Amino acid sequence: MKKFDLHSHTTASDGTLTPTELVDHAYEVGVSALAITDHDTTAGIDEAVARGAQRGVEIIPGVEISCRWGSDDIHIVGLNIDIEADVIKKRLHSQHQQRIERAKRIGDKLETLGHAAVYARAVELAQGNTPARPHFAQALVEQGVCKSMEKAFSKYLGTGKKAYVKTEWATLEEGVAAIVQAGGVAVIAHPGKYKMTRAKLTRLVSSFKEAGGQAIEVSTGTQTVDQLRCAAQLAQAYDLYASAGSDFHGPIGGWLKLGKYPPLPLQCKPVWTLFG
Ligand code: MN
Ligand code: MN
Ligand code: MN
Repeated sequence: MKKFDLHSHTTASDGTLTPTELVDHAYEVGVSALAITDHDTTAGIDEAVARGAQRGVEIIPGVEISCRWGSDDIHIVGLNIDIEADVIKKRLHSQHQQRIERAKRIGDKLETLGHAAVYARAVELAQGNTPARPHFAQALVEQGVCKSMEKAFSKYLGTGKKAYVKTEWATLEEGVAAIVQAGGVAVIAHPGKYKMTRAKLTRLVSSFKEAGGQAIEVSTGTQTVDQLRCAAQLAQAYDLYASAGSDFHGPIGGWLKLGKYPPLPLQCKPVWTLFG
């Protein structure tokens, strides 16, 4: 039986392992089918596919698109997408422009707050990519401004905090459409992470379904038992497939392990039956 992990990051976004290293790691921990789902980029896919062929690890081409839904930022994972499709390339290009703009504005805000050196360090940490919030968080910790990554988010980088920048991402509908038109399956990522009431989460699932979405992450590396149960119930109520993935970003400082997530409840229809 295949061991799936349908949510992971490489150095193409904010992961700490290169695509090659991530595939090697998957091989070592016994993950035999791995979706690479970097934030708004598919730049790591080709390298991962090549390494996967050598290692006997199946690579599912994916992406994690940041989307706006009302005033909330929602992450939509696309699985089994055609990364050469124009529609996905165009969408990811415009997301990329937003990321560049956001990084600059976060840097400006931190400079105004008296932390002028953070931006340059975040750029270094991003290793040629656009710095994302975890890079800023790490820089804030390194420079002694914050004691931990968590503090960096709760004081500076989190929604509404001192150096938060609101970004004009794709709408939920646009994100889902790009994935579906590129032949992929759209998945609501880590529903427990949005800290929504059940009523609000239900509205999100309903809009997502209407937009053409087909699946929801029921089992992730980070949710509580209640959140897992809630996601499984929503999957059933809205006839969505269930996805499972760790949201692995790297082995350092991590409670999150590749391939590690609770089993899907029996009533769920695993999303991998669509492409397995
Ligand atoms: Mn991330
Ligand atoms: Mn996410
Ligand atoms: Mn992720």
